[in-house]
Amino acid sequence: MNNIIISVKNLVKNYGNFNAVKNISFDVYEGEIFGLLGPNGAGKSTTLEIIETLRDKTSGEIIVDGINLDTNPGAIKKIIGVQLQTSGFYPGLNLMELIQLFAGLYNQKVEPMEFLKLVNLEDKAKNKFKELSGGQKQRFSIATTLINKPKIIFLDEPTTGLDPQARRNLWDLIKDIKRKGTTVIITTHYMDEAEQLCDRIAIMDEGKIISLNSPDKMIDELVATGFERPKQVKLANLEDVFIHLTGKDLRES
Ligand code: ADP
Ligand code: MG
Repeated sequence: MNNIIISVKNLVKNYGNFNAVKNISFDVYEGEIFGLLGPNGAGKSTTLEIIETLRDKTSGEIIVDGINLDTNPGAIKKIIGVQLQTSGFYPGLNLMELIQLFAGLYNQKVEPMEFLKLVNLEDKAKNKFKELSGGQKQRFSIATTLINKPKIIFLDEPTTGLDPQARRNLWDLIKDIKRKGTTVIITTHYMDEAEQLCDRIAIMDEGKIISLNSPDKMIDELVATGFERPKQVKLANLEDVFIHLTGKDLRES
């Protein structure tokens, strides 16, 4: 059976008079990758930040791993990993020192090199964050979410702006994290990515959840309405060409 690790009930968020999240309810199952999709302004980040205890809600009930957000937000913080805005990384420190710093903040004993290995950045241990490529930056910031050995990690558009290799690379990393038993909540604007990664997705629009299902079932439902895609005449697309030509291994991504 699926254990519910996050339960959101009747969540509402108003910014002044503006109703950004309109009474949404959903559950996230333990061990799944749950995707939150939707156009810009749909309310995805607001919803995530409320669950992460970083933003106040207007009303509704949120339970994370049995802990009520209203009564014990501190306990929720301890069991989740949140990707920081990259500007939060002290510019003077190298990657090893940053991991150590975070470990200190979380009161964890860690072996920095192990974390860097996890995200394939051992050879950048002595580099500063700003010296990394876009993909490396994302991988490093995902590593920092894992330091407190969280049960759940939150990734808000982790692949936006990355090249195709770096994106695939991050998919592997995220699948790896799931394989080790961590629940992942992710937002993305890339539908191929959601299809690849997510066990279930919720599609948000203007503050409401308009569909929630596995990608496969959502597609089947659309097809069942008689929808048909314009016939695909070629067996590959331009992205396939790009990946084929430039390789899909790690490289500098
Ligand atoms: P998404 O992540 O889906 O793009 P957001 O949750 O960031 O959407 O934003 C949802 C809506 O709430 C948007 O219309 C946005 O402009 C508004 N919003 C977000 N943060 C604030 C804020 N701090 N003050 C006022 N409005 C905000
Ligand atoms: Mg957002």
